[in-house]
Amino acid sequence: MYDFTIVGGGIVGLSTGMALSRHYPKAKILILEKEKVWASHQTGHNSGVIHSGIYYKPGSYKARFAREGSQAMVNFCKINNIQHEICGKVIVATKPAELPFLENLFQRGLQNGLNIKKIGPGELKEIEPHVNGLAGIRVANAGIVNYKQVAEVFASIIEKNGGELLLNTKVENIVNKADGIEIESNRGSFRTHFLINCAGLQSDRIAKLEKVETDIKIIPFRGEYYELKPEKRYLVKNLIYPVPDPNFPFLGVHFTRMIDGRVDAGPNAVLSFKREGYFKTDFDLQDFIDIMTYSGFWKIASKYWKNGLEEMVRSFSKTAFVRSLQELIPEISASDLETAPAGVRAQALKSDGTMVDDFHIVSGRNTIHVCNAPSPAATASIQIGNAVVDKISKQFPRAEQLA
Ligand SMILES: Cc1cc2nc3c(=O)[nH]c(=O)nc-3n(C[C@H](O)[C@H](O)[C@H](O)COP(=O)(O)OP(=O)(O)OC[C@H]3O[C@@H](n4cnc5c(N)ncnc54)[C@H](O)[C@@H]3O)c2cc1C
Repeated sequence: MYDFTIVGGGIVGLSTGMALSRHYPKAKILILEKEKVWASHQTGHNSGVIHSGIYYKPGSYKARFAREGSQAMVNFCKINNIQHEICGKVIVATKPAELPFLENLFQRGLQNGLNIKKIGPGELKEIEPHVNGLAGIRVANAGIVNYKQVAEVFASIIEKNGGELLLNTKVENIVNKADGIEIESNRGSFRTHFLINCAGLQSDRIAKLEKVETDIKIIPFRGEYYELKPEKRYLVKNLIYPVPDPNFPFLGVHFTRMIDGRVDAGPNAVLSFKREGYFKTDFDLQDFIDIMTYSGFWKIASKYWKNGLEEMVRSFSKTAFVRSLQELIPEISASDLETAPAGVRAQALKSDGTMVDDFHIVSGRNTIHVCNAPSPAATASIQIGNAVVDKISKQFPRAEQLA
C-alpha cells in the first residue's frame, strides 16, 4: 500500500513527487509512467524557455508561479549543475497596429513585478542585429534550459529519497474505495491512499476514470518547428518573440536559442488529430472522435475557424511559415531552415467553448487532478509541485503522520 501515487512522469509529476518526498520523508511514494523514458511528451518536446511571467494575467497562478518558479528553476539548476542561461529576450512589434498590444504587455509586466524595459529600433538592433522592429520590450530574466534534463534530475532525487519509479506502466483504471484507491495498469494493480493525476495530454481521461467532474476536455495542439541551419545561427543571438495575439493562449512563432546551441523557429499551433501525434499525418480514431463530439470544440471552432485555418496553411506551407518569421527577421529565407521535431500542447477546453487559461487543479476524494498545466508549466513546475503538496496537507489528514 503506497501513501501517494502519481500518474505521469513529465516535469509536473516528477516535481510533485520530489516535493512530496521532501515534505513527507516517511511516505511511500510511487510514480507511474507509461512510456519507456521520463519526460517523453510535452516536457521533452518544448522550447526550453525559462519564462519570466510577462504574458500572464496579474494575480493568476501562471503569473505568480512563473515569477517565483523561474527563480526556483534557476536555483535548482545551479545547485544541481544543470546547464542553463539567463540570456534575456525581446518581444518585438513589427507593425503600428501591434504597438498598443505591446504597451498593454509592458504594463502587465510591470504589474507582475518584472525587470523589463521599453526599447526603440536602435537598442533592438544592438541586442538582436538582424531583427527589424518598430519597438520592443527587453525582458532581462528570461532564460533557457533543457527541461528533459531537469525532469531526469527530479526523478533521481525522488529515487534517492526512497520513492519508487516505474516506467512502461500505463494506468488503465482507477477504483476509489472506502479503504484506499486501486490502480489497475498494464503491469498489475497498485493500492494507494492518495492519487495525483499529472498525466498531461491524458489528464482529462485519468480524471474521468476516477469519476471526478471537471467539465474539461484536453484539446491537443501540435507545435511545429524549423531549425536554423548551423551556418545561419548567427541571425539569432537569444530569444526573439512577436507580440502575441491577446485572444490566444499561444505566443506566436518565435526564435529560440536552445541550451545546446541550436536555434529553433516556431512553434505554430495546429489542431492535432492525435494527442501524442508528432507528425502531420498522425491520426487516432478515439482522439479524433473525442474532439469532434465535444460541444466546446465546435463553439470555439465557430469563433476562431479563420485563425485555425491560417495555422493549417502555415503548417502545410513552408513559404507561409517563413513569411511569419520574416516579419521578425526579414533576411531569413526558406533555404536557411530545416524541419525540426514537433511538440503537442495539452490545452484544456470547457464545454461552453472557453479555453482554460490558468493552471487548473481539481480535488477529488483523496485525489488531486492537475487538469491544465500548459506553458509556462515547465518553468513553474517546482511551484506547481509545491502547490499540490500544500493542497494535500489541507485535504488529507493522514499526511501529517508522514512528515
Ligand atoms: C511545443 C511546446 C513548447 C513549449 N514551450 C515551453 C517553454 O518554452 N517553457 C515552458 O515553461 N513551457 C513550455 N511548454 C509547456 C510545457 O512543456 C508543459 O506545460 C509541461 O511540460 C507539462 O508537463 P506535464 O508533466 O504536465 O506533462 P507531460 O510532460 O506531457 O507529462 C505527462 C506524462 O503523463 C504520462 N501519462 C499519460 N497518461 C498516462 C497513463 N495512463 N499512465 C501512466 N502515465 C501516463 C505521459 O506519458 C507523460 O509522460 C511547451 C509545450 C509545448 C508542447
